[in-house]
Amino acid sequence: MRAHALLSASGAHRWLNCTASARLEENMEDTYSSYAKEGTLAHALAEAILENDTLTIQKLKTNELFYTGMVDEVEDYTSYCLERFNEMLVRDPNAIMEIETRLNLTKYIPNGFGTGDCIIIGDGLLEIIDLKFGKGVEVSPENNPQFMLYALGALEEFGFLYDIDKVRMTVAQVRLQGIQSFDMKVKDLKEWGEKVVIPKAKEAYSGGSDPCPGSWCGFCKFKAKCKKRSEFLQSQIKKYKDYELSLEDISNILNISKDIQSWLSDIEANALDEALRGTNIPGYKLVEGRSNRKIADEEGLINALLLEDYKEEQIYKPKAIETITNLEKLVGKKHFTEISKGFVVKPEGKPTLAPESDKRPAINTIENEFDFN
Ligand code: SF4
Repeated sequence: MRAHALLSASGAHRWLNCTASARLEENMEDTYSSYAKEGTLAHALAEAILENDTLTIQKLKTNELFYTGMVDEVEDYTSYCLERFNEMLVRDPNAIMEIETRLNLTKYIPNGFGTGDCIIIGDGLLEIIDLKFGKGVEVSPENNPQFMLYALGALEEFGFLYDIDKVRMTVAQVRLQGIQSFDMKVKDLKEWGEKVVIPKAKEAYSGGSDPCPGSWCGFCKFKAKCKKRSEFLQSQIKKYKDYELSLEDISNILNISKDIQSWLSDIEANALDEALRGTNIPGYKLVEGRSNRKIADEEGLINALLLEDYKEEQIYKPKAIETITNLEKLVGKKHFTEISKGFVVKPEGKPTLAPESDKRPAINTIENEFDFN
């Protein structure tokens, strides 16, 4: 796993908005999901591909989280990096590309550092390309403090060697939305660093002001214990005068339902964790959860059934094809797209409610189609 600073670039959106969070979560354990481990493996693979290090690539392929399609996915990022670098070399023969560079952020953040996945510099432009392997949350590069901090760190590292007036922050979210970029003038970026980052980082480093809840709470390790978050979310639930919720009331509840749901699951997960450590949660006890029976000796059971004259076709499940995701992992995304042409279709999705800001177009309901007003 990559090391994390107290005020990490990846957590900047959180601690810039809630300066108290840095110290509040400081001593809380990191829980690394298998997704995070998969991301670390993807980064190592990307680095080895960009450095043409076949020995490391072979070694990484033996990792239990590796799957064939991973190379394809990572290559969407590495090919983009190489394409951008080659384009830059045409414009500027002195262009450079740096991989997995440790960036010193101490000018802006006490003890701050970060890692630039890929940095390309040439022709007055500095481009930071960040590989994101997650497929849960879309990450936009627009005014994204994580990438802006990486860019500031890269300017500190290389700014004195090259004439740079523009930075491009690119996120390669290879398993979700592809590649997106956001440009900024160096002057504006440095102004943000001095006027926003330095004072907020100083405040956060020394304990911060009152916790300030918001969408960033989901990325805070203190989230299940935070009173301010709890008070804030509860204050969002209005007291209603009428017996029946109006459409407006329903819309307001929908607006906060995801935050409330994740807050409740955080509270439940934390309570279980505490109970497992021996803490007594008033009114609750640990019990054995429901479990399903499972076959401990498959061969023994099959033989016993055959001896009773049951037929194989009665005992065995019919052969079934693997899921598309698993087949894609097996064959590789690009190749699977080629060979599955005509065999795989995408049926219309079930209607689902989404906020108006959602990128998907609204679907017409029968009522809408006949609405002539
Ligand atoms: S849960 Fe939210 S409000 Fe509480 S400390 Fe963390 S970021 Fe701040």
